[in-house]
Amino acid sequence: MQEYSDQYIGGEWRPALTSETVAVLNPATEEVIATVPAGGAEDVDAAVRAARAAARAWGATGRAERLAPLTRLRDGLAARQQEIAETIVAELGAPIGFAASVQAALPLAVAGSYLEVLAGYEFEEQVGNSTVYAEPAGVVAAITPWNYPLHQIVAKVFPALAAGCPVVLKPAEDTPLVARLFAELVHEAGFPAGVFNLVTGRGPEAGAALAEHPGVDLVSFTGSTAVGRWIAEVAGRGVKRVALELGGKSANVVLPGADLERAVNVNLANVFANSGQTCSAWTRLLVHEDQYEEAVAIAAKAAEAYLPGDPADPATRLGPVVSAKQRERVRSYITGALAEGARLVAGGAEAPEGLAKGYYVRPTVLADVTPKMTVAQEEVFGPVLAILAYRDEEHALEIANGTDYGLAGSVWAADDQSAAAFARRMDTGQVHINGGRFNPLAPFGGYKSSGVGRELGRHGLAEFLQTKSLQY
Ligand code: NAD
Repeated sequence: MQEYSDQYIGGEWRPALTSETVAVLNPATEEVIATVPAGGAEDVDAAVRAARAAARAWGATGRAERLAPLTRLRDGLAARQQEIAETIVAELGAPIGFAASVQAALPLAVAGSYLEVLAGYEFEEQVGNSTVYAEPAGVVAAITPWNYPLHQIVAKVFPALAAGCPVVLKPAEDTPLVARLFAELVHEAGFPAGVFNLVTGRGPEAGAALAEHPGVDLVSFTGSTAVGRWIAEVAGRGVKRVALELGGKSANVVLPGADLERAVNVNLANVFANSGQTCSAWTRLLVHEDQYEEAVAIAAKAAEAYLPGDPADPATRLGPVVSAKQRERVRSYITGALAEGARLVAGGAEAPEGLAKGYYVRPTVLADVTPKMTVAQEEVFGPVLAILAYRDEEHALEIANGTDYGLAGSVWAADDQSAAAFARRMDTGQVHINGGRFNPLAPFGGYKSSGVGRELGRHGLAEFLQTKSLQY
């Protein structure tokens, strides 16, 4: 077991100012694998001061001076892929195959895409008799969740640094180890002191102190809608900008004429990946009533392939969820759905057989789910798919748009044009058309209660900029 007692502040590892610690558990073994400092207001204050001290000089750097250390940071991430994947297996419980191919690889793709965006971004434009400059937004507080622990960090820290903003990162308390590894890589990349700072700790202490700190100009937060609302309120009082990536309840709509077998199989892979702990997961499958039982049968059969097991085993496709708390939450959504009249066609709330230890949940498929049921409205954040029937396209649209969320979605149809026409009417930030691939340059973010602002691509960089105009 590793016991860490330092925070990364002002370009060095400094002893934490609190003696409190947070225990990091391996969700597959339930054993404590490390402890990290539970940072408090004093650590946060030191980190924000270091960032403020670095802000003017970093903000005044040119494109080339930012590109050089960011490129070294990207190369560092590439060189330590294996270690990153193993760390995420240990602290999150993601299966090693998924940890390597997605959890560790996605941040590399995102880092590379931001180098590309920075290289081509126009920070200055001429409008009539004015010159308009895109300047850094100032000191950024980055508060990240545990579900894609490194991706969430890279998706905030790369564009913030590229925009010329110093950052204080407060990673999720469940997954601070990959954040520490990231801080080591930042150090090796040779950024000026104070440009990047890491404070580990709990949300209501370190996270709240950071969001409230008057030295912070912009809070970029990813996590639950409840905490996101609170952060927006606090930021409002301080007239700080916010970028919020919150929850989702995304619909996968299969229109008549689509390849049903493929649409259902891809949906299962999507919703069971990362044990369902993906904010953009397609947790509601919408199928025409004439094809409903066929879709349910395909899903029930396909779910059998997702046997929960040891995430360190390369054959495992479904690992545990992150914590005991999360497991109980997911199980209670399954029990609640059955009590509300849903039909269990795969999985269930009981512990999976043969796994005495670990926060495992059975891959679960629920049929006969109706739009108003809790499981069709609230984010479960576990390996649970709800299948709903619709009568016609208008009904499908009404169901798809009928939640408070609007983060992502998917449409399958006989051709891309019909799928896209439907997608344009969905109240959601991004939609996959007939299984279209993820694009790290495309903006990602939510409509409605799923958030404010966008990550990734040019939009993601612009989030960390503010404009100034000079009139001649
Ligand atoms: P959370 O919102 O509690 O935590 C996210 C981050 O915010 C963590 O770093 C946490 O320490 C911090 N935080 C918590 N309370 C805070 C406060 N008062 N002030 C400042 N920071 C605070 O989310 P969670 O516990 O990680 O997960 C709970 C639920 O959030 C999930 O079940 C899911 O519904 C949702 N979630 C969404 C996403 C997403 O990407 N949209 C990611 C993870 C979790």
